[in-house]
Amino acid sequence: MEKKNTWETYNKTQLKAVDAFAKEYMDFLNKGKTERECVDIIVNMLEKEGYRELEAVRKEGGSLTAGDKVYAVCMNKAIAAFQIGKKPMEEGMNILGAHIDSPRLDVKQNPLYEEGGFAYLDTHYYGGVKKYQWVTIPLALHGVIVKKDGTTVELAIGEAEDDPVFFISDLLIHLAQEQLEKKASKVIEGEALDIIIGNKPILIDQKDAKDKEEKSLGKDAVKQGILRILEEYYGVEEEDFISAELEVVPAGKAREAGLDRSMILAYGQDDRVCAFTSLKAMLEVNAPVRTSCLLLTDKEEIGSVGATGMRSRFFENALAEVMNLAGEYSELALRRTLAASCMLSSDVSSAYDPSYASSFDKKNVAYLGGGIVFNKFTGSRGKSGSNDANAEYLAMLRDVFAKEKINFQTAELGKVDLGGGGTIAYILALYGMNVIDSGVAVLNMHAPHEATSKADVFEAKRGYVAFLKGAEM
Ligand code: MN
Ligand code: MN
Repeated sequence: MEKKNTWETYNKTQLKAVDAFAKEYMDFLNKGKTERECVDIIVNMLEKEGYRELEAVRKEGGSLTAGDKVYAVCMNKAIAAFQIGKKPMEEGMNILGAHIDSPRLDVKQNPLYEEGGFAYLDTHYYGGVKKYQWVTIPLALHGVIVKKDGTTVELAIGEAEDDPVFFISDLLIHLAQEQLEKKASKVIEGEALDIIIGNKPILIDQKDAKDKEEKSLGKDAVKQGILRILEEYYGVEEEDFISAELEVVPAGKAREAGLDRSMILAYGQDDRVCAFTSLKAMLEVNAPVRTSCLLLTDKEEIGSVGATGMRSRFFENALAEVMNLAGEYSELALRRTLAASCMLSSDVSSAYDPSYASSFDKKNVAYLGGGIVFNKFTGSRGKSGSNDANAEYLAMLRDVFAKEKINFQTAELGKVDLGGGGTIAYILALYGMNVIDSGVAVLNMHAPHEATSKADVFEAKRGYVAFLKGAEM
């Protein structure tokens, strides 16, 4: 069971390709910090490679045949893409799945308030976060504000070099004696994760206020100042927060990490690392034997709920439309297609961390640089909530990967009974298809900045290409 380090297996040309691929990936991370931003980028990339919008093909009265490429978007947050294969769809598709939402802080619907001379935006955290990691770091504000008239204001403040950033305060160490006695889960409470967005009262900008009434804007003057800026620059008023989706994320770009530049340190790699590598594999494969499918979903971090989460019928509906345009639809054919499909449900895996060695089973953990990861099962407390992939399916995948010399490793999330987690795998498995959890190992998962190995990122894409071309049960 000895495994090579993936880096050792590369020649000079491959090493160059690893770096080039990492650059592309980092660029994707920089531009896609929310699920909406990711969908925008992905649609552009798909269209460049000849993918057409499913809805448009349908409205034109078009049809689909082998080699044709289409995509469908759900509410700007989830996307499914298909490339029709040579074989009938009923014989099954090869599906690459991943999610494009990441842990973050969401701005509440009535968020703006003033306290002690600061203007704040109140937030509710999204997904699993160690709250104490989010204080005192530069934060950016991304998202949309949709006005009553239906117009959308898109925001991304805090990324350009001369943009302002936001932050959450923490108590100075000198006065933190009591705070430091608290449990880590209580050191910073959820309601304390409000971001500071201003400190300057509106009157400072108003030295030449004409009359008394203007000068008396004293109450909540800092908040009033923020509201004035929102109105001037973005044309929005306070009530517009009601129909906004604003996400607070770590500000700044993805960086190479290590003196040897072997790693990538960045926000949102769970699970955009699998989304990007799956997308690139999908774009690389042409004229597949089995229909290729790319499925990038939202809301995984909060249980795959809602219209844009994996539990929604969006994917099934899109597939029904695709089959209809390919002249292959019937209710029975749809069921058969789903049941005969193979899926790699890709999500990040916890990498072995020597500083916390006792949390892992060294034989059954992913190593940074160990290649693409297979998790036969995930879940917690006796595999609960897990999709436990079929042995026969794993055997087929081993064979496909061996033929293409893909470096892979097998892993569990951590030691038995220490915690656990789930992915979208179990939802697709409900159709009776073969699904396995796979993906890329990440160090300090769900932290504001997560680390991956460039070699693993490269290997994941290679693995996904091999899967789309060669998997068949
Ligand atoms: Mn994930
Ligand atoms: Mn996650």
